[in-house]
Amino acid sequence: MDHTLSNLDRILQKAGTRSLTRKDVEYLLKIDTSDQLELLFEAARHLRDRYFGKKIFLYGFVYFSTFCRNDCAFCYYRRSNDRSYRYRKSADEVIAAAERLAESGVHLIDLTSGEDPLMYQDDNCHSFLIDLIEGVKKHTGLSIMVSPGVVADDVLQAFVSAGADWYACYQETYNRELFRNLRLHQDYDLRYITKKQALNRGLLVEEGILCGVGETVSDLAFSFEMMKELGAHQVRVMSFVPQQGTPMEGRSTPSRLNELKIIAVLRLLFPDRLIPASLDVDGITGLRSRIEAGANVVTSIIPPSLGLAGVAQSKKDIDAGFRTVQGVLPELDRMGLRAASREDYAAWVLAERGKLRYRSGKIAGVCQ
Ligand code: SF4
Repeated sequence: MDHTLSNLDRILQKAGTRSLTRKDVEYLLKIDTSDQLELLFEAARHLRDRYFGKKIFLYGFVYFSTFCRNDCAFCYYRRSNDRSYRYRKSADEVIAAAERLAESGVHLIDLTSGEDPLMYQDDNCHSFLIDLIEGVKKHTGLSIMVSPGVVADDVLQAFVSAGADWYACYQETYNRELFRNLRLHQDYDLRYITKKQALNRGLLVEEGILCGVGETVSDLAFSFEMMKELGAHQVRVMSFVPQQGTPMEGRSTPSRLNELKIIAVLRLLFPDRLIPASLDVDGITGLRSRIEAGANVVTSIIPPSLGLAGVAQSKKDIDAGFRTVQGVLPELDRMGLRAASREDYAAWVLAERGKLRYRSGKIAGVCQ
């Protein structure tokens, strides 16, 4: 066995024990031979199976408004992109889509929007989304994740009261300079603090980073440390995909190997957390490699023919019906995996929410 492989073995033996150093993480992110990569992915799958068995969670995605007051450099839906596909779905349309997703077998409904200026017109109360959470909960009984961008602390409490379980808000990077270049004119600290507030309100939190936007391996290692410090329950990475009409339109998309290595390293660092394999970047053809790198959630399942968009790939595979539970299950089966039951997922969420310290009942000024 050569010296390089021995070093990798030494690091992988520590995987899942909280003792990986920043140097170890950087080493893992730089490996590139097929032997080394297979050892990394195998270790990640082994850890995933230890904590979750052969069960995979499935998330339905409803992007209910593509209007946004922000101007993120990488995003197709940025305020200044007049070539983007804009819509606002009505509450009835969203509930109908959520019901279809629930019937198809997803475990969670993710209600996502840009920071739609309309949401901030009612004294920042987000009453449309709050009513939507209640409606979707009532009609599906499923866990709900909300991804509306930065909101006030009392709005987070209103989300909890309405029945939300999760709050997703991606920093994209913990390199402050890169953050300034990606999330133009936005407040790095406010974005981070909002996630802490969500945790204090009893919401599970999803954190995410982008790869292929100019980050270094040490930026990535630092981001992982910050995700750990945050206490995120779900940790996501997505590859940058250049979008028409944005300042980053001419940049190239990175090799998917980077995303796969990050998924695997996240699994080593967060063995019992949820890690998505998003259909949003490469559609159904990109599912297998992400699951085999250690992911345990399939995200961005979207009902076809309802005019709903994705984020990084606004239309990819949606109307062809491949981004459905029916499209995903045969792929999982070929990998020796299966969808978890609804009860499995509900029990996981209940247990994790039970660990969070609630501060409810003491909050003044809730919008409702
Ligand atoms: S990434 Fe989100 S906040 Fe930024 S422009 Fe796009 S929709 Fe708006």
